[in-house]
Amino acid sequence: MLIVNTAGAKAVLENIRTSKQSLETRLVFDLTDSVNYKIFTLNRPNRLVIDLYNAEISSSLKSSYGSNGLIKQIRLARNSRNKSRIVIETTEIVFYKVEKIPKGSNKNFRVVVDLKKGYEGSRKLLASSVNRNEFIVAIDPGHGGKDPGARGSKVIEKDLVLKISKRLKKLIDSEKNMKAFLTRTDDSFPCPGGKKNCAQLESLNERISRAKKGKADLLISIHADAFTDPTIRGATLYALPDSRKVSKGSAYKIMYRPKTKTNIKLKSGVSKRSISNLKTHQVDTHDQSIEIGSHILNAMKKDVRLRKLSPREAAFAVLKSTEIASVLIETSYLSNKNDEAFLVNPKNQDKIAKAIVKGIKSYSSDAKQQLSK
Ligand SMILES: [Zn+2]
Repeated sequence: MLIVNTAGAKAVLENIRTSKQSLETRLVFDLTDSVNYKIFTLNRPNRLVIDLYNAEISSSLKSSYGSNGLIKQIRLARNSRNKSRIVIETTEIVFYKVEKIPKGSNKNFRVVVDLKKGYEGSRKLLASSVNRNEFIVAIDPGHGGKDPGARGSKVIEKDLVLKISKRLKKLIDSEKNMKAFLTRTDDSFPCPGGKKNCAQLESLNERISRAKKGKADLLISIHADAFTDPTIRGATLYALPDSRKVSKGSAYKIMYRPKTKTNIKLKSGVSKRSISNLKTHQVDTHDQSIEIGSHILNAMKKDVRLRKLSPREAAFAVLKSTEIASVLIETSYLSNKNDEAFLVNPKNQDKIAKAIVKGIKSYSSDAKQQLSK
């Protein structure tokens, strides 16, 4: 007896489209019908593999496609009778997101893959801190205007952090090859488009925008804490690893990255002699917000009481840009009498600012050393 395969017709992958922006690349796979698929990532070389089940590849498609944006190469293969494989080799480890779009009003079932650079901020910080060009710091005094922040008995947060920020700017500007600017220079609430008023999150994003516009290599947000328990005191520094800069709810995932001894290195083929003129694309690194945060804390601990000795992770909006390395410093507690007395003293404000500069310089020399090894 002849067994006839009565399973539904296979979906056919008919077309592949790619498009790129500066930090993102999109791939669209057009299929004649819906398919089930599985995705996984590999390294050496970095690649994203998509297995399409019960699907075949149109004979009009080539077996490989060349580079575009974050794509180095795409290869198509039929692995078995029931499975076709798409291998997307990427130029680096990237964030990725895969979505399916049902046929609906479109002729095709589409699988859309978005690739996004994830380490620009870390790379920029590393490259800029070791080359001889200018290192630019955006200082973000928290709150402002309608938003007072924490309240102490002698001072409110928005005024205190502006003072500390201005001292910090002055110190940074007096350093060779360093420059700073503030995201707000007076008692205003930063809002996009010069608006007088906006929502909290809009303001936080505007602070990042101003930092990016000013081409900052590092964003430092300055705050002061308050807590219901008045005995709690000490400074805390917050920073995020790059993989956590993508928000939890978002569909982006990070490609597999093998553990390495050091996360600071020159890309292969880049000479150590070029360190004095190093460019962002010449380094391979990640999580430098945490790295510089550790150096700043280390410099602070001599003169400032710390609540935590290492950076804490918290998904604050100002820390979440993958395009700029950032730390948020809670300079200590306005709800604690002793902390507040410490903070309102201009000498201590200077100590905090000096420690931050020292931390930045310590990070730079350490990074330089690691790259020249
Ligand atoms: Zn605050």
